[in-house]
Amino acid sequence: APSCHRVASVTFDFLACKEPHTMTQRTLVLLKPDAVRRALVGEILGRIERKAGWTITALELRTLDRPILEQHYAEHVGRPFYEPLVEFMASGPVVALIVEGERVIEGVRQLAGPTDPIAAAPGSIRGDFGVIVRENLIHASDSEESAEREVKIFFPGRA
Ligand code: ADP
Repeated sequence: APSCHRVASVTFDFLACKEPHTMTQRTLVLLKPDAVRRALVGEILGRIERKAGWTITALELRTLDRPILEQHYAEHVGRPFYEPLVEFMASGPVVALIVEGERVIEGVRQLAGPTDPIAAAPGSIRGDFGVIVRENLIHASDSEESAEREVKIFFPGRA
């Protein structure tokens, strides 16, 4: 009989699967210090929780130190916004979480909106609450590779 074949967490639809392109993933999300300071944690977590079938599988309030931020933002070393970004990200507690579910990597990026909050559409987290590019409320992994790398950094026990 036809069946679904799961390979490396991707479900391929051959003949009998009801939903094609099924993809269970996990992503690393940070609610940045501005989100915590402005008491928007509940609002933002609520938007993530309300997406059908997604699950928060780790959650921690934590003040990040330089070494962890240097690891996390390694790709941006040398960019003009790097130093102020690290300083901002260390300026107060963040909420770090892992979210698991269908296409959650692209999905949380869509909920967040583009990096520049003024360019982000109303209805997105950045579009609804942000103005300054640096203080754009939320980080979300941008690929499966980044997600695995970032989960290891913030939740080594879940790697
Ligand atoms: P994203 O978080 O949307 O994936 P990037 O990975 O390009 O964006 O940048 C990481 C973070 O650095 C952004 O979320 C933002 O806080 C900050 N940032 C990016 N570009 C700028 C910039 N031009 N000026 C100030 N801060 C920036």
